[in-house]
Amino acid sequence: MKILVINAGSSSLKYQLIDMETEEVIAKGLCERIGIDGSNLVHKAHGGETKFEAAMPDHKVAMKMVLDALTDEKVGVLKSMSEIGAIGHRVVGSGEYFTKSTVVTPEVLETLEKTYEFAPIHNPANVMGIKACLEAVPGTPNVVVFDTAFHSTMPDEAKLYAIDYQDYLDYKVRRYGAHGTSHKYVSHEAIAYCGAQGKDFKLVTCHLGGGSSISAVKNGVCVDTSMGFTPLAGVPMGTRSGDIDPSAVKFLADKKGFTFEQAINYLNKKCGVNGVSGISSDFRDLQAAVEAGNYRAKLAVEMFAYNVRKYIGAYAAAMNGLDCIVFTAGVGENSAFTRGYICRGLDYLGVEFDEEENKVRVPGIHEISKPGSKVKLLVIPTNEELMIARETLALV
Ligand code: ADP
Repeated sequence: MKILVINAGSSSLKYQLIDMETEEVIAKGLCERIGIDGSNLVHKAHGGETKFEAAMPDHKVAMKMVLDALTDEKVGVLKSMSEIGAIGHRVVGSGEYFTKSTVVTPEVLETLEKTYEFAPIHNPANVMGIKACLEAVPGTPNVVVFDTAFHSTMPDEAKLYAIDYQDYLDYKVRRYGAHGTSHKYVSHEAIAYCGAQGKDFKLVTCHLGGGSSISAVKNGVCVDTSMGFTPLAGVPMGTRSGDIDPSAVKFLADKKGFTFEQAINYLNKKCGVNGVSGISSDFRDLQAAVEAGNYRAKLAVEMFAYNVRKYIGAYAAAMNGLDCIVFTAGVGENSAFTRGYICRGLDYLGVEFDEEENKVRVPGIHEISKPGSKVKLLVIPTNEELMIARETLALV
């Protein structure tokens, strides 16, 4: 079966068509600047790349262009849309309305609209994409795969904030986490790699990219995660502050004349390693600046690594032990420099970090702890699209 995976952002839409017999990507692409002047679609198939430029006022039009590209006479990969067996959609926020991947029905669509307040930028775009698919490919099942679903197993003491319990009940304000599909994918890969299926296995997964989150995974099930009600919580990120005392936010907003909205925007877009370094949110730029002796770049990387280490320690405590730490996503997979900062200083846990192995680049799963290390360190490339496709296949 061929499965189309759709990942809609606020102004973008990524897609992959995957052959589930081989799990190979047949075609993929990206629509950019949806709702903005200059929108375009870059479609990759048959080893080549084609750019389609056309106005995309909304995600419905973008979705239509994707389906046209997939069936295009020259660069398409399908004779007809009926070859698509199912469509899997990534959805960011679920509130407590959904705890697992679900086949789209009219009732599910109605409930999805209630989730808008939990992800006001992303979820309306997702629903528009789903509706466009239902219209263009009638009869083909659509499945929604939630970023929050993997974290739905967190116990109450981990997921709840210490606010008035009635307010939690009334407004569902709690930790939901994010990057769940990635944490789930790398957890499964790590468990299989370590031959730990069905065994007592304690894992910390570090998804370190533009946004970063850390999860505690016990026997394949998420028991805690660092992001919160929104992705603003946890470790410092590219431009997000991560954890901060709310009273400091009020103090800063008063000083800078920010409204509440502006303060949240500042914490999301102007902080993190970008704000601390004053240089960049990109860890490649930070590494170059550290190597050139820049103090603030070094401080930014050290703060990032320190906080990741703190979460690893906290989660080892939460699970009463640790067997494996996984690094994934842009920084986790590629920045040996940043992994080095994180992994030095974990020896108390039984981690034997291999400095030389860390510098080597290999495709697939890469072990960067020494043989015999009590806690294994693994670099695992994430594959959220494949995970979405697998979940979709399982449901249809
Ligand atoms: P997101 O999807 O959250 O934007 P990614 O997982 O793609 O993020 O990660 C993007 C980040 O990965 C970039 O900001 C950059 O800092 C980092 N990155 C990518 N490649 C490298 C590399 N070779 N070395 C260091 N950092 C890298």
